Amino acid sequence: MKLLNIDANPKTVKGQKQGYMTAVLYLAPFTAAGINVCPMAELAGCVAACLNTAGRGGIAKGGATFAPHGTELPDNAVQRARVARTRLYAEYRDAFMRQLERELHAFVRKAARAGLVPAARLNGTSDIVWERVPVDSSHPDPRVAATIFDLFPDVQFYDYTKLPKRFARPLPANYHLSLSYSEASKRYAALCFAAAREHDAPLAMVTRKGYTADCTLPWAAGETMRQRGECHVVDGDAHDLRFLDPPGAVVILRAKGRARKDTTGFVID
Ligand code: SF4
Repeated sequence: MKLLNIDANPKTVKGQKQGYMTAVLYLAPFTAAGINVCPMAELAGCVAACLNTAGRGGIAKGGATFAPHGTELPDNAVQRARVARTRLYAEYRDAFMRQLERELHAFVRKAARAGLVPAARLNGTSDIVWERVPVDSSHPDPRVAATIFDLFPDVQFYDYTKLPKRFARPLPANYHLSLSYSEASKRYAALCFAAAREHDAPLAMVTRKGYTADCTLPWAAGETMRQRGECHVVDGDAHDLRFLDPPGAVVILRAKGRARKDTTGFVID
């Protein structure tokens, strides 16, 4: 079983025009594999609308579902592989990290052969705090243990996250995060705006229509941007390379998969 999916999704393929090859790690989100890899998902209200069901991951023959750990998922090979990878991460962490390292080395070579810059997204459908995950779990001091970002300084890593606290500490130089906004709870929305104001966190917003030239921001987002004296609004569907966005941008994404029918406040009208 491979961990990384290389330029096999239409959006990451768009990155090739910008000179990047992209590898994505897709795990089973929230508690679908028996461990919670999305600690803020309930407060952010994103479980039902998760990207996990977009594209091939949402297709099941005859609409069948399976529930490995009490969570219903479309019954297909994509979902089963995501559950298996997540179980490997949960139960055999060092073996998982060694395999990830091997696959990233192969990916770097592949990108070089194609004349492209390697970019990697480890939270394709999860929200793991990778900057705190040691490559070697037996290291005596996890605070200074090497992470995957240390092993691959020439790879540009990036992710979306629903954990505003991640912006309060300096991130590795080769890791870019965008904070995924939601209005499913007032508390979560307020945490997002605080991170945007205090740490210049870029805000990614999923909207029903996606980016339009005249799209208006939710009031509080517009206010936050005015307080910062800037307002770069970016079409997040043009490509997935968020680290190319202007600092502190507001990124507008179109709802996909089950998210198209979301009414929790995660998708904004
Ligand atoms: S949208 Fe992100 S945080 Fe929410 S369940 Fe999916 S992967 Fe997890």
